[in-house]
Amino acid sequence: MDFSALHALSTGSESRKLERIETTLRMIEAEGLFPPYLPIESAGTEPTCTIAGRELVMLASNNYLGLARHPAVVEGARRMLEVHGVGPGGSRVLCGNVDVLPELERRVADLVGAEDAITFPTGYMANVGAIKAVLDPVLGVLPYRKGAAAVIADERNHATLFDGIALSHARRFLYAHNDVADLERKLEQAKGHHPRMIVTEGVFSADGEVSPLPAIVAVAERHGAVLMIDDAHGVGVMGHRGGGTLEHFGLEGRADLVMGSFDKALGGMGGFLAGRRELVRYLRIASRPYMSSSSVPAVLAGAMIEAIDACAAGQELRARLKANADHLRTALGRLGFRLLGDGQLPVVPVLIGREETAIAFSERLFELGVYAPCFRWPVVAKGTARVRATVTALHGPEHLARTVEAFRVAGEELGASDVAA
Ligand code: PMP
Repeated sequence: MDFSALHALSTGSESRKLERIETTLRMIEAEGLFPPYLPIESAGTEPTCTIAGRELVMLASNNYLGLARHPAVVEGARRMLEVHGVGPGGSRVLCGNVDVLPELERRVADLVGAEDAITFPTGYMANVGAIKAVLDPVLGVLPYRKGAAAVIADERNHATLFDGIALSHARRFLYAHNDVADLERKLEQAKGHHPRMIVTEGVFSADGEVSPLPAIVAVAERHGAVLMIDDAHGVGVMGHRGGGTLEHFGLEGRADLVMGSFDKALGGMGGFLAGRRELVRYLRIASRPYMSSSSVPAVLAGAMIEAIDACAAGQELRARLKANADHLRTALGRLGFRLLGDGQLPVVPVLIGREETAIAFSERLFELGVYAPCFRWPVVAKGTARVRATVTALHGPEHLARTVEAFRVAGEELGASDVAA
């Protein structure tokens, strides 16, 4: 994309005040980068959905365990809806601290194997709120100067983690993706900063790779660094009880903070941080998205308490999820597609390469009855566009068969050399 037109506009006069924005928008649209935002006419969390009157296999939902419409979860919401209505009416320090929230936080802490937990209306707010509060202690409780703290982050972390980092005044160090030796080098370089905070995802959602947490935990402990793990995609999916990636590795309680989303495997909406009691207590006074924004509504908390129960007892759901993901990976691999990731998440990223081919591929899948959006620059590096298929425990053999057939047809039509490895 040529940005020179934008630079030329940077000194725009009052009469041209929106020109830069309009030019940016036109360039984004000309590059085909504006998302189609197709209105989904049915529940988007189900294995099939209706778009523009057509029934499609839905391969873009994070409702991994199928809990979004689980009867007990819906009933939990309904009970609270009748008592509390829809919205919370204020933040936790005002009228939002309904008794079901501390109860939910206890359940979250139990699920993840942490001492305590705190909830947020979104996972985005949990990430931003935690990172900012740890790196820049607030209210003069702990004095800090700009650049005193350091954050050492995986270069491929989720955008919400980078937003938390951007809000802070800490020195920033990026380490090569999942490279523990590089993490340790950056920790050495950050010696003299205090605190030093390591931030990584537990499972990287873009390609579904598990991060090397045993080594990361060991390095964090050796260096006395604060460790925060964004396990939005690990909770509910990884570990026997769905406790997440730390449970998967037998490392419960060994991170200072674990962030999770209610809106992925738990089928709801919102976010949480689980971790050391004192740290969680500190966040209740230091985290702006917690203090200054309305609380998680009771209707959602009622649903999530039920979802956590279903998740902890959900070994069968996790087995079905894994079987579905394995089946799809194997079948697409046999067709010659190049698959990314290590196959631990129910995310099956198919590398296409050129952006235009990936867009055409995804559109052809749509015509063939399969909804699998493409991920492309600037979300991933140029020339590595991919179509990502996310399966859930709700998909049955017929959905998977339709998916494989659609990939086969689209792959053949668009040329194997473009599409296959
Ligand atoms: N972290 C990761 C890894 C995510 O994938 C997401 C959601 N896409 C978030 C954080 C943000 O969570 P939420 O959607 O609850 O705001």
